[in-house]
Amino acid sequence: MTKTDTDASNTFFLEVSGAGLPEVDGLYIPSAAPPAESESGTLSSPGFWNGKPAWDRADGKAARSPAISYSNSYKSWRISRLDGHLAYELTCDDALPPTDRPWNVYKMGVAPGPKVTLHDSDPRLASPDPNIIFILGGPGAGKGTMCKLAQIQLGWTHLSTGDLLRTELKTEGPRAASIKSYIDAGTLVPDEIVVKLLKDAMEKTVRDTGNLNFLIDGFPRSFGNLDAWYAVFGKDSDLPKMIYFECPLDVLTRRILGRAQYSNRSDDNIEAMKQRFDIFKAETLPIVEHFTDKGKCAEIDTGQDRSTVYDLFRAQLADQTDNDCLTRPLTEEAEMLLGLRPYPDRT
Ligand code: AMP
Repeated sequence: MTKTDTDASNTFFLEVSGAGLPEVDGLYIPSAAPPAESESGTLSSPGFWNGKPAWDRADGKAARSPAISYSNSYKSWRISRLDGHLAYELTCDDALPPTDRPWNVYKMGVAPGPKVTLHDSDPRLASPDPNIIFILGGPGAGKGTMCKLAQIQLGWTHLSTGDLLRTELKTEGPRAASIKSYIDAGTLVPDEIVVKLLKDAMEKTVRDTGNLNFLIDGFPRSFGNLDAWYAVFGKDSDLPKMIYFECPLDVLTRRILGRAQYSNRSDDNIEAMKQRFDIFKAETLPIVEHFTDKGKCAEIDTGQDRSTVYDLFRAQLADQTDNDCLTRPLTEEAEMLLGLRPYPDRT
């Protein structure tokens, strides 16, 4: 196994869920104790599983308890049951238990294998306060492209309420049919659904990555959205700052119709688009005015070329952006998004 930092104690919170075995599901929390050497010479860090001492590898001496461990002999990560029987395994030499591949079911494990999540901070505690900027603008104003640039180049997390809703649709959960009817018609999805998706996504990001900088794109689109935000995040919570992407309606219409040819979006058609513009004018522009009146809104003219818009956007984010991110050269993907480099030809 490749070691990341052999002298550091374990600082990750590992969560195993969906194992179908109650003694395997649980939270493996870190310990400040330094790694110890096992008889086979492997360094590993002790920790605790559901409140009981456990090892992140079997050292041959520890009382057998649910454990997540790496076997040097078999070159595999393993999850054992309370009685010590191996329940799941994944052969690889990753330094940490893989979270992106299905685990193989072993002996008395229950198919399908569990999901493993690595948390950067304790998922049982309230997350630290995130730093949020709302991004609004008409459909086609370029919010998505600029937020994606801020994500890959400046280290911000981009959450788009439209994307969160479209992802929720794909899960085909109980709310999917209702969400689809609103999106297809170009009308607003109920506020509680949108805010719940946002809250869950923010909490997961903070836990999994520790990143506290969020661009929330496409929210709040109405006073109903804003009320639901206060209901969930607290009446006294600070009103986040907003960046408004200003763009003349005729430019927006041209962009959306151009995008409709390849976007594959059910709502990039004339009828839904008209509805989206009407709602934007009736519901969203008053929200922009509200933020402006409170001195919380910065406006960017997005009718200009992409590099100019990006420079203005970057300047707005600069004082909350890590200096290394601000000064590093543009990545290839950022250059493609800015139209400075062609996308690779996939034909
Ligand atoms: P977008 O991808 O931002 O253009 O959003 C696509 C569709 O998702 C909208 O037309 C709405 O039906 C829905 N939607 C996105 N964001 C919100 C929101 N903040 N509140 C309610 N509905 C939303």
